[in-house]
Amino acid sequence: MNIVVCVKYVPDATADRRFEDDGTVDREDVDGLLSELDEYAVEQALQIREHLEDGDGGDDVVVTALCVGPEEASDAVRKALQMGADNGVHVVDDAIAGSDAPATSLVLAEAVRKLGADSGRSLVVCGMASTDGGMGVVPAMVSERLGIPGVTLGTQITVEADTVRIRRDGETSADTVEGTLPAVLSVTDQSGEARYPSFKGIMAAKKKPVETWSLADLGIDAERVGATAAWSVVEATSARPPRTAGHVVTDEDGSGAEALVGFLASKKFV
Ligand SMILES: Cc1cc2nc3c(=O)[nH]c(=O)nc-3n(C[C@H](O)[C@H](O)[C@H](O)COP(=O)(O)OP(=O)(O)OC[C@H]3O[C@@H](n4cnc5c(N)ncnc54)[C@H](O)[C@@H]3O)c2cc1C
Repeated sequence: MNIVVCVKYVPDATADRRFEDDGTVDREDVDGLLSELDEYAVEQALQIREHLEDGDGGDDVVVTALCVGPEEASDAVRKALQMGADNGVHVVDDAIAGSDAPATSLVLAEAVRKLGADSGRSLVVCGMASTDGGMGVVPAMVSERLGIPGVTLGTQITVEADTVRIRRDGETSADTVEGTLPAVLSVTDQSGEARYPSFKGIMAAKKKPVETWSLADLGIDAERVGATAAWSVVEATSARPPRTAGHVVTDEDGSGAEALVGFLASKKFV
């Protein structure tokens, strides 16, 4: 069975993130890393592999980490390999810079197709959203482009034979959706704690194969991606206003509780 995990390389959310003059995110001068939410996708892919390989049939499952991004984005693939993925594919091409979600999904879909994971007993697993763009639309777009079922925001995935079962937790109820492979899924951060790479995993990752593909390798015309093909554009950005000091209630004469309630009431919290 083929499992492709889409892993995005994003600017570190704890670092000082910046925009370029043209409104795009500065991806060159800010430290990046594997989007934290994609670690859950890698974890689910590895758990499915472990479950199937330990089962009666002793399935042969290959987990491929797929990333579209600049040169440095190979770090995201490497992290997925350290966690346990078997091999990696990194699509890198200058023309991709400035692509929006539809163009990103085009590149991902064509890479999935080239990996043969759009047919047969295959699964594409994505995170619920990226920690930079955060649109949460790419998985659905990839499934649409591939013409295979797509289910988003899964919290539990089980695969048996050609069937994939996904639980989706709502605020007051949970649904279970069942489909036939191949399929594209996205999983939430409620799907289970992501593992840390072990020392053995880090050493093993150095020997795992990573292929680098260009747009030409995927048969994609450069005019279909990049800023000029983008359907959406950032027109203006502004820095978040600095935090103001909070309101401090001191209780020197026993009136603190009353002052606290008065403050909360003034903000309509009580
Ligand atoms: C090199 C590069 C340059 C970019 N330049 C611009 C720009 O100039 N303007 C602009 O608006 N946006 C730009 N983007 C962002 C791009 O538009 C977003 O990647 C795309 O819109 C996806 O939206 P999202 O990040 O919100 O993904 P979501 O829909 O939130 O992502 C959901 C899931 O899809 C998968 N996924 C998404 N993107 C990737 C990826 N690249 N590789 C692997 N898996 C992925 C992950 O599993 C992720 O968890 C750029 C991205 C890259 C990588």
